[in-house]
Parts: sequence; structure tokens; C-alpha cells
Amino acid sequence: MKFVADFHIHSKYSRATSPLMDLENLDRWAKIKGINVLGTGDFTHPKWFESIKKELEPAEPGLFKLKTGDSGIRFILTSEISCIYTKGGKVRKIHIIIFAPSIDAVEKINLKLSQIGNLKADGRPILGLDAKELTKIVLDADENCLVVPAHAWTPWFSVFGSKSGFNSLEECFDEYTKYIYAIETGLSSDPAMNWRLSQLDKINLISNSDAHSLPKIGREANVFDTELNYKGIAEVLKTKDSKKFLYTIEFFPEEGKYHYDGHRTCNLSLSPSQSKKYNNICPRCGKPLVIGVLNRVEELADRPEGFLPKNAIPFKSLIPLNEVIAESIGVSVLSKEVSKYYNNLIENLGSELKVLLESTEKEISEESLPEIASGIIRMREGKVSVEPGYDGVYGKIKIFSEKNSLNNKNNIPNQRTLF
Ligand SMILES: [Zn+2]
Ligand SMILES: [Zn+2]
Ligand SMILES: [Zn+2]
Repeated sequence: MKFVADFHIHSKYSRATSPLMDLENLDRWAKIKGINVLGTGDFTHPKWFESIKKELEPAEPGLFKLKTGDSGIRFILTSEISCIYTKGGKVRKIHIIIFAPSIDAVEKINLKLSQIGNLKADGRPILGLDAKELTKIVLDADENCLVVPAHAWTPWFSVFGSKSGFNSLEECFDEYTKYIYAIETGLSSDPAMNWRLSQLDKINLISNSDAHSLPKIGREANVFDTELNYKGIAEVLKTKDSKKFLYTIEFFPEEGKYHYDGHRTCNLSLSPSQSKKYNNICPRCGKPLVIGVLNRVEELADRPEGFLPKNAIPFKSLIPLNEVIAESIGVSVLSKEVSKYYNNLIENLGSELKVLLESTEKEISEESLPEIASGIIRMREGKVSVEPGYDGVYGKIKIFSEKNSLNNKNNIPNQRTLF
């Protein structure tokens, strides 16, 4: 069975998340977005785990559904841990996603981790625990658990991060590396960037939203064609089979918050080659630059740009629908017009991913405007330009940039911003 999965989100018990992140709302928004399997996130948090046990019931083995009514959405038990520890004489800060096959396994993991740190403080707890030790604890609880390094390239909190990461999975996980089957590429990198590292050839590249609020669910996701149960999903993550792992849904990586280098407070964004010219020192404040994902990938890459490994899983780059609408009609994402067209498209065409990936130009046009339809088509064709994000600032996407509009003037009906 073909389904779309987003494994990494956060509940209302994580820091800086929306108070609306509860199970009922997650279920409702998964439907709007077109996600079939959603990670619960935050299962280490006692109150969230209570809700999971109280409000969900078993569905297919290892998956869960709402007790109050089956919308078709399935939940899978996942959580994220922030490991902060010293290894090799450096402070490491690494976020790890854990998948668990059962409530029992979660009970065991939570018991063990609660002896190490305070699980109540944050849905994504900070533990003074080596990522390798975490892997051991999780696999001891249940051998079918999975451990996946989160947003593997972000500078501050990731396995390859420029500030506190490692140069290889082996350096981080030692003898446990063989249990690391996948990494999450994060919003600021896409599979093509990761293909430049031969050390990742055996690793599955997965993508998740890491949503902190409901509308962000599914902004990155994984499309599988396998049995709908925990075992089926785990098998896809453990092997690398393009018949079962069809593709990932990606941001344009430039839109992510850490694609380029720079300093947010100095209002300075630099490409890797520009940073090099400044020896990675900010020319405005004299402090070291925050080295972004693109630069870090180039540092560790052993292949040229554009390299395609043999068993690569394909991907599709998308822009969130509200952003496409806003950009197409030249208004702010928060404007009433945007939500009007958004709701109309979802109501009549099914889900956000359906609209972004499958609906025809004619269908979209009929439920919104011709310029919105042509914006979506342009996105599918990759005809967009992006001002890259840096040091925590999201990139700015342009579907109808000056340059593109002039080049393709005849293809764009009623492009309002032009006239
Ligand atoms: Zn994280
Ligand atoms: Zn997260
Ligand atoms: Zn600076």
C-alpha cells in the first residue's frame, strides 16, 4: 500500500510549540495535509505519553489511531532526544529521533531515560547522554526500535553539524553504527546534496517536517509503498529499496534556515565561497560565522555536485501551498485571500499534498485562480528562485521572480505583480 509518512513532529509539551499540538488536532491536520502516518513525537514526556495511551488505540501492529473515530490517520510512536555530551575533547550536541514498536517499549525507554535526566522539562528532553549510549538503551528496550539522527546537517544540534557534530557516523556511533540505517536530511539539505558523500550510500535519507505547529505538518515527508504496519515501515528504513521507498518530499533546501553561512544579528548571508574569502570570520562583527549546511556538506563531500549514486531514492521539491498561493497573487501568507483559496483547494481537491503533487492545472485553476495553478506548475518544474536562508533565517522563495517572469512572460497569465 502506498502511503505518506511524517515521523518527526512535536507536541504542545515541547518548547516553542503551539498549544494546539494535541492528538485530535494532529489527526485533523494530517488529513488536511495528506499525511497517512504521523509520528506522535515526544513520547518521552509523561503527560504526552499519558495522552497517547488514553486517546489512541491499537490499529495495524505497531500503529495507532484515535479512539474517538477512525479518520484513516495512523500514529507511530516516535520521540526526539537532545544529547549533549563531550567526546573526543569537544562538546557534542546531537538530536536523535527514536522509533518504538510498542507502548511496552516506550515504557522501558522512558523508565531508563528518566534515571538520566528530567523528561518532564521538555517534550524534547536534553540528556547528558552519549548518542551511542542512547542507541544502546533504546535497542536494549526493544531490538525493533530505530535510531535516526535528526536534521543531520544543522550547525548547532546535529550529527554532522559544523558547531558540535562529527565528520562521520562512525565517529559518533562507533560499534553501534551498524544500527544506524537512516538519517533525516532536514529542511536545509536535500538528497542530492547528501549523495555527494560516499559514506552515506548505504544510509536511507528520510525527510520529516519537525513541525512545531499544525500547518507545518508534512512540509517534508516520505512516500512508501509497503505493508502499513510498524514492521513494514522499519523494513523500508533498514533496507534501501526504491520499490518500497518511492521518494521523499523536500523543501527547496535554500528555503531552510541554515542553508547558507552568515550572522543573523549582522544581517549577513554568505555562500561557502564568500565565507572562505573571509576565513569564516564575520566581516561585520569579527566573530566566527555560523557555517551552514551547504558549506558543511562541501567540506565532507568526496564527490562533485550532481553525482547520482546507483541506489538513490528520488525526491520531489515542494513549496508549502499557502506560500505558493501568496507568492502567486502577490499578497502576504497571512492574508485572508490566501486562506480562502487554501481552504477551497483542500475541500474540493482532497489534501495539500494532492494539490501540490497530483491535481491538474485545470483542476487547481477551477478551484482557485489561473495564476495559482501556474505557480504550482512552475514549482513542480523547479522554476523558482530562492534567496537562501542562513543562521536561523528562513530563505525567501520567489516563483515569479523578475528574471523568471521576463523569460517566461507568455506562459504566465494574469501575473498581477507584473502589471
Ligand atoms: Zn531537533
Ligand atoms: Zn524536532
Ligand atoms: Zn557577525
